[in-house]
Amino acid sequence: MNPLSEEKTERPISKLVAEDCHIHTCLSSCADKNMRLESVLMKAHECQLERIVILDHLWGREPAESELPNKLRESKKDLEGNFPSLEVKLSGEFNYDERLVREDLCDQFDFVTAGVHSLDRFGIFISNSMPVNILSIIVNKYGLKQILDFFLEQSVAMFSDNRVLVGAHPLNLYLYLEGVGYKSLDHMTKNASALHAVVKDKGFEINGSMFKRVADNLQSPAPRTFGKCMEAYARVLENLAPHVGFFTLASDAHSISEIGQLSYCDKIIEMAGIRGKISNAPIFDSAK
Ligand SMILES: [Zn+2]
Ligand SMILES: [Zn+2]
Repeated sequence: MNPLSEEKTERPISKLVAEDCHIHTCLSSCADKNMRLESVLMKAHECQLERIVILDHLWGREPAESELPNKLRESKKDLEGNFPSLEVKLSGEFNYDERLVREDLCDQFDFVTAGVHSLDRFGIFISNSMPVNILSIIVNKYGLKQILDFFLEQSVAMFSDNRVLVGAHPLNLYLYLEGVGYKSLDHMTKNASALHAVVKDKGFEINGSMFKRVADNLQSPAPRTFGKCMEAYARVLENLAPHVGFFTLASDAHSISEIGQLSYCDKIIEMAGIRGKISNAPIFDSAK
């Protein structure tokens, strides 16, 4: 045991696993500038995490993205020896919008993680900074069902894509919309079985930040609907469990202090009763 970590009182925040499968670095433009890989690994080590996955955004919008896998690989090579008890996997958070963007970079990572972030045909870009008032205007313009039908269709296409191993924050749009006061959860619970056929051998990420976002950040309907959101999502996970390859736990950290913050993940895993399906090393190892 490293004396440094004994001195610290910090523990892995999840009581179920010592891993965080979704951490950004400063190579994502929306993450804190001080998230150099070295600082990220240091913090993960302090939290006594045993495995982390670095996921920087690949929106397909910036030329600099081409350099990203190389830069990460190089820094990882320099740093890895300093943290022997920490397994570091490099993946990219690819955007899936009617197709997998930056597919040219797939081979450069340990495996591919993708998330449905932009629904360009509706002018929706799902992110932690998505303004809720804009979302309300978009829903009123296009209709909730049209948007959710398309979002689910994209999610199914993403999991069906052979290149994608893990789906990042699946179904997040439902929770975001419900937080704004729309009845999107009915659509999710009615249609979630569409995912059952396509998640075999795939990782389904449980992303704590989307629950935190609904709990903390949204406007007045959020506190009232939060319990309902968690409950509906837990039932989706419970029903998905017999079909899915594995679940991963993710903080989606955009700042150093968020690394390893997985208490919402633990909570929903308990609610869904899916402890036995949490990610395990052999599946990641066989990814590359
Ligand atoms: Zn994302
Ligand atoms: Zn992310």
